[in-house]
Amino acid sequence: MTRALILLAGACALAAQQPSFVLRNANVFDTGTGTFLANRTIVIRGEKIEQVLGPGARVRGARAIDLRGQYVIPGLIDAHVHLVHQPDFAHMTPEELLPMYLAWGVTSLRDTGDEVVAETAARKWADAHPDTCPRVFTCSPLLDADPPYHRDIGRAITDPAKAAETIEDIAAWGVTTLKIYVGTDRPVGRTIIAEGHKRGLIVAAHLGKYQAQDAAADGVDVLEHIWSVFNYGFPEGPRPARHQLDLNNPRAAALRSLIKDKGTIVDPTLAVFRNMILLHDESAIHASPDNARVPKRLRDHWERYRVKSNLQPSTLAARKGEFAKYQELTGLLHRAGIPILAGTDSPEPYVPPGASLHQELEMLVESGLSAADALRSATIMNARALKQQDRLGSIEAGKLADIIVLGADPLASIRNTRSIRMIVRGGRVLDPARIHAAVPAE
Ligand SMILES: [Zn+2]
Repeated sequence: MTRALILLAGACALAAQQPSFVLRNANVFDTGTGTFLANRTIVIRGEKIEQVLGPGARVRGARAIDLRGQYVIPGLIDAHVHLVHQPDFAHMTPEELLPMYLAWGVTSLRDTGDEVVAETAARKWADAHPDTCPRVFTCSPLLDADPPYHRDIGRAITDPAKAAETIEDIAAWGVTTLKIYVGTDRPVGRTIIAEGHKRGLIVAAHLGKYQAQDAAADGVDVLEHIWSVFNYGFPEGPRPARHQLDLNNPRAAALRSLIKDKGTIVDPTLAVFRNMILLHDESAIHASPDNARVPKRLRDHWERYRVKSNLQPSTLAARKGEFAKYQELTGLLHRAGIPILAGTDSPEPYVPPGASLHQELEMLVESGLSAADALRSATIMNARALKQQDRLGSIEAGKLADIIVLGADPLASIRNTRSIRMIVRGGRVLDPARIHAAVPAE
């Protein structure tokens, strides 16, 4: 070996020993205790967190960013997104939407059912553009009856004997999640759960025909939307109006016990129920400043939907009462010890990508979760629902460096998750304003 090569090898070894940079004097959110640990130093090497050091630690030679007085949380994860379905109607492509998520601190997305070719293309685009896009975890199409309810993103499975073949084909796309949809009945649903689990996939369900009592007993992993619990908690006999349902009636209480005993996770997606389904005639929702940076094509599509759905003022009080029931049920599920995810169903009408996850956190807190528990939902709980808890969801040595720096304490007010000063995505330091600039205006 020549002297030059020996010197070069020595320099490389030294570079390999040095961290890329450190974040100094940070208050770091600990997902285990739900508290901030003061004066921590986060050592980042390449795309990973190498160490989190206590007060007084010094790391020589590395570039340091001082975060005195700031609050550091793990990158947020949105547990319920469709990158293809609504964008199709608005003539948008998924990569046009992706920067909105990252700019709002959402460093990972869990797609919950889409056309799999377009969704996989979006995932590959995101992987190739880490400075503007979050990580994307893909899902099967909506597995449904024939014809599927959403023909653009659904796939029919009607014969349990043929389910394995279809699931094998979908698994070959590298999806993380299988999604059962409204037309699926118990024999098919049970087979999808078993075949999914055989392949290490997470099985999530937006239920219709398949009863929540049966799906939980059969081992479904995640119930998507508060409806997938609420709709199966009506007492036998005459049905009360939805806004008048007693959530402590014996059938509703028994369902909660079953969900708890089976370890089933619930993803309430309150943002979509409030913003799209129940209350989009309220100006606080359709004229929210959170919609301001959404491209005009998508806003125009949302507004066409709103005009067409023509909600009547005479029904407003009942609709508000119904949403209050969904929040009350979310609180009851949480207090029963059932894991709650933070998902939005963006970009459904008036559910703005990225911003709506902050709305969801606010609605989870209104429902009775502590700010710390809401943050745990959007980070470590969502990571678990993707089987990514070894890589994502907390600020710990060995995990990917997905980190959000806030200017104010989110435990003092959950609205402070919006005070984003800096985003670290896989060890890259990013400015949220520059990411927002990558979103088309039109
Ligand atoms: Zn959805």
